[in-house]
Amino acid sequence: MATEKMLRFVTLGKEMPEKRPAELRAHDFHEIYREFADAKAAEQASRCSQCGVPYCQSHCPLHNNIPDWLRLTAQGRLQEAYEISQATNTFPEICGRICPQDRLCEGNCVIEQSGHGTVTIGAVEKYITDTAWEQGWVKPIRPAQERGESVGIIGAGPGGLAAADVLRRAGVQVTVYDRHDRAGGLLTYGIPGFKLEKPVVMRRIAQLEEAGVTFRLNCNVGTDISFDAIRGQHDAVLIATGVYKARDIEAPGVGAQGIVKALDYLTASNRKSFGDEVPAFDNGALNAAGKRVVVIGGGDTAMDCVRTAIRQGATSVKCLYRRDRANMPGSQREVQNAEEEGVEFVWLSAPKGFTGGTVVDGVIVQRMRLGAPDASGRQSPEVIEGGDYVEPADLVIQALGFEPEDLPLLWGVPELPVTRWGTVKADFQTHATALPGVYAAGDIQRGASLVVWAIRDGREAAEAMLAWLAQSAGASVAAE
Ligand SMILES: Cc1cc2nc3c(=O)[nH]c(=O)nc-3n(C[C@H](O)[C@H](O)[C@H](O)COP(=O)(O)OP(=O)(O)OC[C@H]3O[C@@H](n4cnc5c(N)ncnc54)[C@H](O)[C@@H]3O)c2cc1C
Ligand code: SF4
Repeated sequence: MATEKMLRFVTLGKEMPEKRPAELRAHDFHEIYREFADAKAAEQASRCSQCGVPYCQSHCPLHNNIPDWLRLTAQGRLQEAYEISQATNTFPEICGRICPQDRLCEGNCVIEQSGHGTVTIGAVEKYITDTAWEQGWVKPIRPAQERGESVGIIGAGPGGLAAADVLRRAGVQVTVYDRHDRAGGLLTYGIPGFKLEKPVVMRRIAQLEEAGVTFRLNCNVGTDISFDAIRGQHDAVLIATGVYKARDIEAPGVGAQGIVKALDYLTASNRKSFGDEVPAFDNGALNAAGKRVVVIGGGDTAMDCVRTAIRQGATSVKCLYRRDRANMPGSQREVQNAEEEGVEFVWLSAPKGFTGGTVVDGVIVQRMRLGAPDASGRQSPEVIEGGDYVEPADLVIQALGFEPEDLPLLWGVPELPVTRWGTVKADFQTHATALPGVYAAGDIQRGASLVVWAIRDGREAAEAMLAWLAQSAGASVAAE
């Protein structure tokens, strides 16, 4: 490990220390590496021109005070930088790792727009908070005063956890319900560990547990406990259940063995990294090792699947997407990463069917072209007749996106208002639904989105719930 760090140290262009690697103790390496990392973060941070029109900040969903923490980092005042960064973001080290910065803060950096390459804002944000954890600057959550009110949060993803953090700091009694055996939502079981190391997520959950947040895991609301029972047990409820109904391919042969859903595949891989028993991984059903893999889809989930398959030792990995590179929904940075790792993108192609009978051995691929724009202004893909061919495949992963589950039906609450897309209907500032004391945040309110938006929603919903709880308490006192 020490040698690896030293190699990286040398590669990145800092002068060699006088001692040779073999003579250096781990402690020396740690010190040298920290010094180097500090220098790298400061170097990046000092590239910020403090332009005075911080588009980076306005394009960050949390409106992080980026110029200020970059300036402090450049000055070596990391603890102050951390304090500013954590004031607006519940999980800065997580966003720093997995926000699609090219579409958010970094994509709007003035330096990037002048062609000089963006300040790597996400990497600095991650670095500041990782350092804060290492140095003990991240303090335990200790409410100044306990309050009697309790809030039930359904869903332990970033939306639910961000709300739990705000509510618990205010002294509210918080219970988080989740159907999984671990908290974290897609941070834990969706996003792969090579993008977001699991201990980074688990230490945040431990921080909340230590603060007194109760987690009721393996608890599927609608089956193990009813929504009405949760409403009855708490003064207010937040629905932060995410979106999990996978869109399916409709093509002949889709039920064959070897055609799997993206989230099943990624969950199996993440569970293995926790050391869990995963029979479907061990028997090969959800393991790409030694296989020709075809992933269908062009979003970030598809990118996670192709990059996971490469790491598992697939013999080849191809990604089929029906539009072209410029029109794909996933991050361009992720496509570039995937290409560098050996993934082949087959643009303008869609599955027409599958060959092989009960066990898939190929995808019938239709060639596409982009036609006239649809109502949303995007060019619609059209089939090129006669252009079909068969792409050999041992494992096909469907990554076509997710829709909300039918919560009113599943939970037996027809009065829970939903939009025509099935998302929970709630105010976009307060996150209040039409049911008194019931709020919604994250993907279940806005549709499949991003972690940083779920964090923003969770924080906003928690603030609105605090106001509502205070108002309700005031009303009961007045009534007495
Ligand atoms: C594979 C994948 C990769 C992604 N990569 C990125 C990325 O790199 N960057 C990024 O910003 N975003 C990414 N996203 C999107 C991001 O993960 C989501 O937008 C975000 O997690 C939404 O947060 P949430 O809290 O609303 O829901 P979730 O994270 O989905 O959490 C919802 C939780 O609710 C629980 N739940 C659901 N129903 C019930 C029920 N009935 N009872 C009890 N518990 C229930 C679930 O088990 C889950 O733990 C990715 C998404 C996927 C699928
Ligand atoms: S939270 Fe995301 S968008 Fe905001 S500054 Fe951090 S990396 Fe950029």
